[in-house]
Amino acid sequence: MSKKAFLSKAKATEIKASIPTPFHVYDEAGLRANAQAVRNAFSWNSGFKEYFAVKANPNPFILKIFSEYGFGLDCSSMAELKLAKVCGYKGDGIMFSSNDTPDEEFSVCNELGGIINLDDITNIDDVERVLGTFPEVMSCRFNPGGVYEVSNGIMDNPGDAKYGMTREQLFEAYGRLRDKGVKRLGLHAFLVSNTTSNDYYAALAKTLFELAVDIKSEVGVELSFINLSGGVGIPYRPEDTPNDIAIIGDKVHKVFDEILVPAGLGDMAIYTEMGRFMTGPYGGLVTTAIHEKHIHKEYIGVDACAVDLMRPAMYGAYHHITVLGKEDAPCDHTYDVTGSLCENNDKFAIDRQLPAIDRGDLLFIHDTGAHGYAMGYNYNGRLKSAEVLLHPDGSFDMIRRAEKLSDYFATFDCFPEWDELKEV
Ligand SMILES: *Cc1c(COP(=O)(O)O)cnc(C)c1O
Repeated sequence: MSKKAFLSKAKATEIKASIPTPFHVYDEAGLRANAQAVRNAFSWNSGFKEYFAVKANPNPFILKIFSEYGFGLDCSSMAELKLAKVCGYKGDGIMFSSNDTPDEEFSVCNELGGIINLDDITNIDDVERVLGTFPEVMSCRFNPGGVYEVSNGIMDNPGDAKYGMTREQLFEAYGRLRDKGVKRLGLHAFLVSNTTSNDYYAALAKTLFELAVDIKSEVGVELSFINLSGGVGIPYRPEDTPNDIAIIGDKVHKVFDEILVPAGLGDMAIYTEMGRFMTGPYGGLVTTAIHEKHIHKEYIGVDACAVDLMRPAMYGAYHHITVLGKEDAPCDHTYDVTGSLCENNDKFAIDRQLPAIDRGDLLFIHDTGAHGYAMGYNYNGRLKSAEVLLHPDGSFDMIRRAEKLSDYFATFDCFPEWDELKEV
């Protein structure tokens, strides 16, 4: 399949006239259509809730859009909890799936009425010590260990992952939490990332549903919700097959009817915590080609760098690139597309077949809506870009300004020449 940018050259040029490149742009129409599709896919479950994983795209304008679909937020840090609060999320609209959690984050989550998802059995004592009591609703995170394998080569190594509790710890935890007076308990697991198969959620659901049945019979606790967490992937490469959320929802429904309903657990609410699938494809990084260089290889230098999108440098991740206005030109040039960092991994593409690129061309780097801006940093003193929301009617708004040097220097207010530094 070919990948098409949701932004035309004309629209990118129009945005650039008021918001200089580089910037991330998000497609509101795409975000909304996908959110609706997720809701439809799980409408068979009356308690269904998607908790958008804030870390994928922590922009409050985006977080507020999701509240219109009845979604909650999955938070894992103080900043994410505070953003959730300001965006109007509270109570069971907040899932707090953190690990290695500082005490004060348990307190703030509890003040908001959010659901604490315990990563470890020792967190039971932490919660009691910090809160002095237990919330009515809590969740536990499971780690089955070993290798978790689904069809189509989908697998990961929970045995190496720092998250969650063993089966034995989980059973003990539910008994203790019940005895402490917790009324509604849930089960959570995140076992494989970025899966491109419609089978992952159903396989995970089967694992967790069977576990819920065992918990009922062995501990005597009837769980109220099961959280399938994240891991539903997106097609980064043109040849990848996209997941179909309607099929995924149907497959989970089938397993639900096979396992939970006969066990008397048919009231179970199904939760998801998708991040990448909710925003990934609906974001792009727009950057201008500012240099070309011909040495042992052909390089195109752009005005964005790994500070704006770290995935290629960090994981060697593939991000498709469209040269706007040259969508139909032959891809008869081989380029490395680079940023300016003094790090040779600052390359958005290596040996990529692209049309001939001229200085001034606008490049659209695809699929930056999740873990794009969010992963940014400030190496080399490079500043983070603006973010733009493209509305369904073609109008647009800046939803975060680009950083300024004064932002970068702001934490040097302990420096003797601070007055000079803050004026630059
Ligand atoms: C990152 C994360 C998610 C979202 O994962 P995606 O693969 O982006 O869907 C959900 N839950 C937890 C606890 C996470 O850490």
